[in-house]
Amino acid sequence: MQLSDSLTKHFRILDAQKKALTRLNIETIRDILYYFPTRYTNVSEIKLIRDVEAGDTVTVYGKIGKLKTKKAFRSKMPMGEAEVEDSSGKIKIMWFNQAYMAKMVHEGDMVELSGKIAAGKQGIYLSNPELKEKNALPIDSHGSLFGQGTDAAQMYGFPIYRETRGITSRFIYHTVQKIIKSGMVQEIDDYIPEDIRTKYKLPKLSTALIWIHSPQSDNDAQAARKRFAFEEVFLIQLARKIERGNYEKNRSYPVLTDEKDIANFVDRFPFKHTNAQTNAINSSLKDMAAGHPMARLLEGDVGSGKTAVAATLSYAVIKNRPDGKSFGNLQVAYMAPTEILATQHFENFIQYFKHTGISVGLITGSGCRKFPTKVASAQEPWTTISRPQLLKWVANGEIPILIGTHALIQKSVKFKHLALVIIDEQHRFGTMQRKQLVTKEGFAPHLLSMTATPIPRTLALTIYGDLDLTLLDEMPAGRKQVITEIVLPNKRDDVYAHIKQELEAGRQAYVICPRIDEPDPDKEMALQAKSVTAEAKRLKKDVFKEYEIGVLHSKMSKQKKEEVMDDFYAHKIDILCATSVVEVGVNVPNATVIIIEGAERFGLSQLHQLRGRVLRSNHQAYCYLFAEAKSDKTIERLKAIKTAKNGFELSELDLALRGAGELAGSKQWGITDLGMEAIKNIKMVEAARSEAQLFVTADPEFQKHRALKELIERKRIETHFE
Ligand code: ADP
Ligand code: MG
Repeated sequence: MQLSDSLTKHFRILDAQKKALTRLNIETIRDILYYFPTRYTNVSEIKLIRDVEAGDTVTVYGKIGKLKTKKAFRSKMPMGEAEVEDSSGKIKIMWFNQAYMAKMVHEGDMVELSGKIAAGKQGIYLSNPELKEKNALPIDSHGSLFGQGTDAAQMYGFPIYRETRGITSRFIYHTVQKIIKSGMVQEIDDYIPEDIRTKYKLPKLSTALIWIHSPQSDNDAQAARKRFAFEEVFLIQLARKIERGNYEKNRSYPVLTDEKDIANFVDRFPFKHTNAQTNAINSSLKDMAAGHPMARLLEGDVGSGKTAVAATLSYAVIKNRPDGKSFGNLQVAYMAPTEILATQHFENFIQYFKHTGISVGLITGSGCRKFPTKVASAQEPWTTISRPQLLKWVANGEIPILIGTHALIQKSVKFKHLALVIIDEQHRFGTMQRKQLVTKEGFAPHLLSMTATPIPRTLALTIYGDLDLTLLDEMPAGRKQVITEIVLPNKRDDVYAHIKQELEAGRQAYVICPRIDEPDPDKEMALQAKSVTAEAKRLKKDVFKEYEIGVLHSKMSKQKKEEVMDDFYAHKIDILCATSVVEVGVNVPNATVIIIEGAERFGLSQLHQLRGRVLRSNHQAYCYLFAEAKSDKTIERLKAIKTAKNGFELSELDLALRGAGELAGSKQWGITDLGMEAIKNIKMVEAARSEAQLFVTADPEFQKHRALKELIERKRIETHFE
C-alpha cells in the first residue's frame, strides 16, 4: 500500500461512496489519512445507562450480551441486535442494515458504544452505535462505574469525522483503522526535521497520524493536533518564503526621492497626514530605494487614509531620480475591486495631482478616461478617451498613473516602465498574478497591497507571510465617531422615527439582514436572500411607504448588483436592504444610518466593517444593532463594538470568543479548522514563522529536504490566489 494509491485499489467502494469521497476531496490513501476527526466522543459524555433519554447522543460502557442477527419483519432488512449492561441498568441495541456489527464481538465482552438513543414501540434503544472493544473500562464522572480493572490510559473515545451524504464517520474510521493495521503508516518518513520536532515537542508523523485517528488519551489527541496545526502554519510560511524569495530574485526600479519635493506634495493635501500615514510612507520609500522589489501589506481600518499613502508613493515613484539620470517614465498601476471605487480613486487623484502636470488614466470595463485634458470641458476636468488611445499612452509612458479594476493587469495593457503596483482590497492577488507583472527584462514592480479587512495579527503573519506588514492604526484627528447603539426590541419604532428624520433631511440608510450560518451553502443563500427581500417588503409596506427601497444580495447577478449599487449611489434609492455583501466596495457618503438586524449572528469584526459603510459621511452617522437573542452574554459581547479602538482589536476578540469561523472571509484563506487552532496561539505562529525563515536561509533550494519541497508543491499553498 502506497500513500499515493487510490483508495479503490485497496477497498471496495461503491459508486455513491466514491462520489461522496470526491466531495470530501478524498481520493488516495494519503487523503484519507489526512482527513482528521473534528472531535472525539469525550469521557464526560459517558452516561450511566439509567440516565439516558430518547434523543440523546451518548457513549455508554458495559458488558455486551444477547447478540443476534435477524431480518426485519417487513422490509427484510438485515439487522443486528444486542443488549449492554452497566452497573446502573441495561439497554437494547439495534443495528439496522448492519447485521455484521453483532458479529464483531462476543457475549460478555466489555465495550464502548456511542450513538443515539431512539424510542421504539418497546421502549428506548441505542440506535446504530459505534462499537469498540475495551479490555479495560474507564472511571467516569459518576465515580466508580465498573470497579477495578479500570485503566485511565484506555479512556478515550471515538473520533468523529465530518460526514457527507453517502459517507459516514464510521466508514472513515474503519477505513483508516485498516490502513493503520496494514502497518504502512508506521513506515512513513517525516518531512518535518527532527530538530524542529524535538524543540517544540511534536510527535513524529507516523505517531501523530495514529494518535489523531485513535488516541488512547486526551494527551495523545492534543499532541497530534498540535503537531498538525504547527505543520500547517509552518508549511504555509515556507511556501510564502519561497514565493518571496523568488520575487526578490527579480530586479526592480530603485526609487530615489527628494525629501523636500515629497514634503511639498504632502503639504498640499487638504489635511495633515497622521503619524501612521507618515510612517507607512517612509517605510515604503525605504523599501523601494533598494534594487529589489518591495512587497508590503498596508492594513488600516476603513477611513484611516490609505488613499493618501497610495497617492504620495505614486508621486514619489513618478518623480524618481531627482538627478534626472536614468529610469525616467516610471509608472504606477492602482487596482481597485470595483468600478465605483476605481472611479473614486481617479477623482481623488485628480485633486492630489492637479498642480503637478502628471497625467492620470482610468480604465474600467465601461470605458477609459484621462486627466488632464487639452480641451477644457465644462463639467469635468477629464475626458473620455478610447481604449486603444489609452493603451497607446500607457505603453509609451505618457500616462504614468493608471487606475482601474482588474482590467488593469490584462495582457493587452502594456506599460513602459511599471515600477509600482498598488492593490486596494484584493487580498487574493497571488503569485501567479504577480508573475504576470514581471517584465521581459526581468523587472518586477514594487507591490503595495492595501486592506481594511480586520484580521488578527497571527493570521496576517501567516497568510501574508510573504509580505512585510504595516499597520495604519491611527484615525485622522477630529473624525466623527459613528454613534452606535444596541437596540432592544421595544425601541424599534424610535429608531425608525429617527431614520425618517434622516431621510427627510435628504440622507440615505442601509438595512443589513443576517446571514444564517448553515452547513449547506446553497440553503444558506436561499434563506439569506429571502430574509432580505422579506424585510424590504415589510419596510415598504409598514414603515417607509413613501421611500424607495432597494435590495442587494449575493444571489443576484453581478450586473444587477452593480445596477443597484449605482442607483443607491445616485440616490435613486433611499434605503438599501442588503446582506453583508455591502461589506466591501460600497461607499456612499450620503448614507448616514445603518441598521443591522440579528446583530448577534455576525462576528464583531464583521459588524465593524459593516458600520464602516457610514463612516465616510460628512454628517453625523449612526449604527443601530438589533439583537434577537437577549442573553446578557450576547449584549456584553456586542458592547465591545462601542469600546474597541479598531477593527484589529475586534478581530482578536472574535478569535478568542467565538473562534476563527467568525472572522470575515475566513473561508477564503484555505486554512483548515485545525490550522486555525494554531492561529489562536501567537507563540506557535511566531515559532513556525521563525523556523521557516531559518529553514529557507539554511537551505534555500531545499536540497536536503526534497520531501518537504515536494509536499509544498503538491499542496500548492496559495491562499491569496483564486
Ligand atoms: P481608506 O483607508 O478607507 O481607504 P481613505 O483614503 O478613503 O480611507 O480616506 C478616508 C477619508 O479621510 C478621505 O475623505 C480622506 O480625504 C480623509 N483623510 C485621509 N487622511 C486624512 C488625514 N490625515 N486627516 C484628515 N482626513 C484624512
Ligand atoms: Mg480605500
